[in-house]
Amino acid sequence: MDYDRDRGWHNPRICPYQPLVLDPAAIVLHYAQTIFEGLKAYLGVDGRVRLFRPKDNMARMNRSARRMVMPEINETFALEALIELVRLEREWIPSERGASLYIRPTMIGTQATLGVKPSCSYYYYVILSPVGAYYAEGFNPVKIYVTDRYVRAVPGGVGDVKTGGNYAASLMASEEAKAKGFTQVLWLDAKERRFVEEVGTMNIFFYFEDELVTPELTGSILPGITRDSVIKLARDWGIPVAERRISIEEVIEGIATGRLKECFGTGTAAVISPVGLLRYQDQEYVINGGQTGPLAQRLFNELTAYQYGEKEDPYGWIKIID
Ligand code: PMP
Repeated sequence: MDYDRDRGWHNPRICPYQPLVLDPAAIVLHYAQTIFEGLKAYLGVDGRVRLFRPKDNMARMNRSARRMVMPEINETFALEALIELVRLEREWIPSERGASLYIRPTMIGTQATLGVKPSCSYYYYVILSPVGAYYAEGFNPVKIYVTDRYVRAVPGGVGDVKTGGNYAASLMASEEAKAKGFTQVLWLDAKERRFVEEVGTMNIFFYFEDELVTPELTGSILPGITRDSVIKLARDWGIPVAERRISIEEVIEGIATGRLKECFGTGTAAVISPVGLLRYQDQEYVINGGQTGPLAQRLFNELTAYQYGEKEDPYGWIKIID
């Protein structure tokens, strides 16, 4: 659908996948006024299609819109439209366990101008694409590179919303980490370069002997929907969960003393991603013998059981599409 100041959001439509027409001076191309979301549609074991917490994605989209001075969407309408689209593309939802239809709602500023200001016109569109199983054969613990050279987001910046610039800022560190054989970068805070923030496209958890710790949302971390789900599940399982600052020294000491039992990332793409090794300042630290731990496995099993309809979801997270 389209937005301009006079008409607001208008002309909602479903059309075949096609290139967008943009003026070369469109604001998004220069000043990165772009926000997006990522969620998945799963084909359940009963043949019904399920979305995981889609209202939360719509709410986060609007939070991103406010921060980026973009017009909010009507969350109910946008979700209904998204569901309609998934219904139309139902045949593209892969049936194998782990695979899904990835859904990418996006909003961009389209006004043609060279001045730095919020656009007065926008496109909102939704891209769909089938994606294969994240784990081809079981869980594979990943290797993570801790950078104290680059930062992803700064206090007061836009790190806690889903906007393109955050990912652009992360590219160089990610490429350098990949060239060294690591899957993703673990970011530290911009000020002291000590406190753990998040991984490339995941939030991060550390399971110590007595508690599960994840960095508190300081304003430069994306509030992940999977992160929130993991906190709720763990608490309901009787595991104390702390959202607090955690330094990289505390993590390393935890590995050295054996107090740190597990480390894993959380996000829509992988759901749970066990971390088997951290590299920090030219030292490598192996976690849990490089193996997937029981908590990561249990969380993964539980969340995917809701997503594929193998288990009743007691939290109201699943939206079934008939
Ligand atoms: N952090 C970043 C930077 C991300 O891109 C994502 C993926 N959306 C996450 C964390 C995890 O968020 P979610 O659980 O909502 O997918």
